[in-house]
This record gives sequence, C-alpha cells and structure tokens, in this order.
Amino acid sequence: MAAKTHQFNCLSDNFGVLLHDTATGRTASIDAPDAAPVEAALAQTGWTLTDILVTHHHGDHTAGIPALKKKYKCRVVAPRGEAGRIADVDETAGEGDVVRVGELAARVLETPGHTAGHICYVFDTDKIAFVGDTLFSVGCGRVIEGTMEQMWQSLLKLRALPDDTSFFCGHEYTQANIRFALTIEPGNPDLLARAREVDALRAAGKPTLPSTIGLEKRTNCFLRADVPAVTAAVGLAGRDAADVFAEIRTRKNKF
Ligand code: ZN
Ligand code: FE
Repeated sequence: MAAKTHQFNCLSDNFGVLLHDTATGRTASIDAPDAAPVEAALAQTGWTLTDILVTHHHGDHTAGIPALKKKYKCRVVAPRGEAGRIADVDETAGEGDVVRVGELAARVLETPGHTAGHICYVFDTDKIAFVGDTLFSVGCGRVIEGTMEQMWQSLLKLRALPDDTSFFCGHEYTQANIRFALTIEPGNPDLLARAREVDALRAAGKPTLPSTIGLEKRTNCFLRADVPAVTAAVGLAGRDAADVFAEIRTRKNKF
C-alpha cells in the first residue's frame, strides 16, 4: 500500500493535488478548483480519476466538480455540513469518519472556522493531511463563517498531528504570510530560515508546499498563539490562546 501525490497550480494561486493509491490505481483529486488543470495533471501522471474529496464549498475548491464528474463518473465526497452547497455529491463525511481511496484511508477532521462545515482528510498511515483553507504555510484561512474560537480549536486539531505529517493546502500564500509573521516574531530564527528558503523556492518558480506540521509549529504564528513569546509580542501575555489567535488573525486581515 503506497500513496503517491502530484501537486499542481490552478486558477491564480490555488493548488490542485492528486492522491494515487499504487495498489489499486484509484486516484483522488483533493478539491477541484478547475477541471482543465486537473485533467492536465491526470494526463501527465497517467492516472485515472476515481474520487474527488472536497474540503469546503467555496467555488475555488469546487468549480471543477461538474465537468470532472461528467467525464470520469468519479465518486464525490463532501463535508456533511456543506453537501447542499456542493454539486454532484455522492457521499458526505464528518468528524471521525474514514474515507478510503483504494487501500488508502483518511480520518476526517471537522475544522470549522473558514467555513462552518470545513473538513480535513488525514491519511495517518501515509502521514499526509489535506487541510484545504484551514491551515496554510505560515498562515491560516480567513475566519469567514465560524468564530475565532472555533478556528483556534480547528488549528489545534491539526497541530496535534505528528510533526512529520506532510500537509497540502489550498493556496500558495506562503511568501505573503511570512511578511506578516515577521511583524509578530521578527527574531524567530526558524521563521527567518523559512523566509530564506521560501524566497529561493519562489525565485525558482517552485511551490512552498507541502509543508510539515513540525515546521509550522516552529514558524506559524497562528499555531503559536499559546507560546509566551507570541502572546507577549501582541501585548496579550497571560490571556487565553483563543484571544491571542483572534488578535493575530485580526491584524492579518488589516495587513
Ligand atoms: Zn476557501
Ligand atoms: Fe480557497
């Protein structure tokens, strides 16, 4: 049993990702920002689409579903809380459900905040997580439908994954995220090192994802809202982590 992944660019700054089970040949698209780049990625890999695993209802994650469903008759799995807002859904998934792609198995985490029903897919055995617009590298999604407290709790679920878990997210926002994160933690050596690495990757036209949970725990201020250096930096020493998270997220919205 082995998982292969193929990441590619979609729309202006979205990522597409294919997940392929070598044992059975089944291939999932994680979200479907746009049908054409997904089809191009399938042609490039030689894989045949059998499943679409949707993280949330936003159009930049779902617009490609109808055309792909029509062409490949693939199974579409969507968050239970948002199925009514997504086209062509075959199955819904919520907290604790196991979603299989061939022999690969994902545990579903409900991560409300960006949207009310957002879910993430964690392939524990393969140490791969697909986190949609909940966690970005050195950032997190905008809190649109949920509360700041919900988003913080959602991020804690992802932070609890093993450090060597690789995660794929919906957008290439890392460089801009780092510019903001440096306003919170200008002296964080791991963040400064990540900034240099990301600048080099972007200059070479390469993606900065996937990242790992361990790297984000050291560099992502949104995951560090309970770290004393961060709470002090935003003038909220001793306050609840959710309040510190809310302050950082609010500053980012205005940045
Ligand atoms: Zn979104
Ligand atoms: Fe998005």
